Amino acid sequence: TLGPRLVKEALFTYVRPEITHSPELLAVSQRALQDLGLKAEAIEEEDFRQVVAGNKILTWDDDSKEGIYPWAQCYGGYQFGQWAGQLGDGRAISLFETTNEHTGVRYEIQLKGAGRTPYSRFADGKAVLRSSIREFVVSEYLNAIGIPSTRALALVLAPESKVMRERIEPGAIVTRFAQSWIRLGTFDLPRTRGDRKLLRQLAEYTAENVYGGWDKLASKLSSGDPNETHSKISSGVSKDTIEGDALEEENRFTRLYRTVIRNNAKTVAAWQAYGFMNGVLNTDNTSILGLSIDFGPFAFLDHFDPMYTPNHDDHMLRYSYRNQPTIIWWNLVRFGEALGELMGAGAKVDDETFVEKGVTEEQAEELVKRAEGIIDRAGEEYKAVFMAEYKRLMTARLGLKNFKETDFQELFSEFLDWLEAYELDFHHAFRRLGYIKLSDLDSEDRRKDIAGRFYKANEAPRQESESRERIGKWLEKWASRVKEDWGEGKDEDRRAEMDKVNPKFVPRSWILDEIIDRVEKKGERDILENIMKLNLDPFQEHWGWNEIEEERYCGDVPKYKGMLQCSCSS
Ligand code: AMP
Ligand code: MG
Ligand code: MG
Repeated sequence: TLGPRLVKEALFTYVRPEITHSPELLAVSQRALQDLGLKAEAIEEEDFRQVVAGNKILTWDDDSKEGIYPWAQCYGGYQFGQWAGQLGDGRAISLFETTNEHTGVRYEIQLKGAGRTPYSRFADGKAVLRSSIREFVVSEYLNAIGIPSTRALALVLAPESKVMRERIEPGAIVTRFAQSWIRLGTFDLPRTRGDRKLLRQLAEYTAENVYGGWDKLASKLSSGDPNETHSKISSGVSKDTIEGDALEEENRFTRLYRTVIRNNAKTVAAWQAYGFMNGVLNTDNTSILGLSIDFGPFAFLDHFDPMYTPNHDDHMLRYSYRNQPTIIWWNLVRFGEALGELMGAGAKVDDETFVEKGVTEEQAEELVKRAEGIIDRAGEEYKAVFMAEYKRLMTARLGLKNFKETDFQELFSEFLDWLEAYELDFHHAFRRLGYIKLSDLDSEDRRKDIAGRFYKANEAPRQESESRERIGKWLEKWASRVKEDWGEGKDEDRRAEMDKVNPKFVPRSWILDEIIDRVEKKGERDILENIMKLNLDPFQEHWGWNEIEEERYCGDVPKYKGMLQCSCSS
């Protein structure tokens, strides 16, 4: 039968992709090829084409039964705040790990949509073309704008695989890669099963193999981050802050916890600064490395609306824009509870035989309770790292060199407030700000005039005069801050800096929908390659493809195509 299979005392299962008949390679990311250390010509090779279709396992020899056999990971997760039990890679199969010789970075390569695994539960292990196009494009876009993300190398159409969703759809396979596919949900599973030994093994594996070793974790934390305004915060475990005497000093698992927290805080800060929403931030969709991971009903904001969720089924707005930092923290608290026993034992835990030595379950629970103080302090660190990163990114996006405390209220908040009030385009606003000359802002009339640049073409907001007034006032404040940081006559230099952090192209939902339609219904093939030019270098002004198409994809959102929502079926 095809029921769910519970996998105990293990975190992966060997499993092989299904054969794909007449696969068609639809797209390859040139940036991904480079980052993996592959030559552009590699994609012409038959081996490459068969590997990304799941038809060839490069590292395994069927005759001698030797080599690396593909596997699927086991994990659990809290979905919409509820414990959902064992999930696992239901349609992702990892093939092998590979290290780029030039950069020394190691990646785990996997196929998504290549067939069933022991974790498929009642589903088919497949992925439809539309969701595969979305994942392929956004993974590479986030990376291109500097937001940590899992990556996508190739997109393959499986024309003979008819996938049943609301209707029958073509199937596809995405070849993805990441330095690790471990999620917070990977820790949730042994924790909820009370498998303390496996939990410890997983934590050690993560520190040693994913984070480069315990020493590296410690030295990274102690070197601090000069950008952090509250950098004095550490988990600072001391005797007087926690009852009892077991926490003499911060132990290595606490350092692992803090590092995971810091990475996730930075990533969610970048999502907020760039208007990206994942749409399903369950613990199984939160990366141990702080990567953006698992792209289902994700979206970018069109206009600034903090209550917006891209997930059609998210009625409680749990995964809305403004909730993302809170939800990631909620997930990290679950992670803290999983590490609780290991962190709560203080320095003692560095004893290799800690678990085996026979700490009873009651004692273990006691240790988890003690860890609460650590989790609380880590929460302060999370906030501090988040704020520092968010301020850093917004400062740069608004064309300033230094953050001043008053900027937060007077510039950031007020900017977002008028974008929200008049439903103006979030991404265009940053980019267009870069092109404003300071001398154009020196009288009230001219400022009101310039305010119109934030409107859609030929479409002023209903409250036009009020908006011109308000935006004009903001521009006045902004201009004086720019002068403070840059001095006079630096418009061009400032624009160049702003263009490097404010993308002209954003893969919004309407664009992805249109591309899906062009590929799937109209049978177009060049469109993916062309859109990838914009997608991989989104800060450019021109791409040499087709000026009309480029401008349309970088222009106003067409009527009724803004702030779309996506259903979870994929
Ligand atoms: P997601 O909502 O994408 O995070 O998926 C939640 C869980 O459902 C994961 O364990 C997925 O592997 C699994 N899953 C989703 N779609 C499928 C599918 N078509 N076949 C097998 N497993 C799936
Ligand atoms: Mg998932
Ligand atoms: Mg998914």
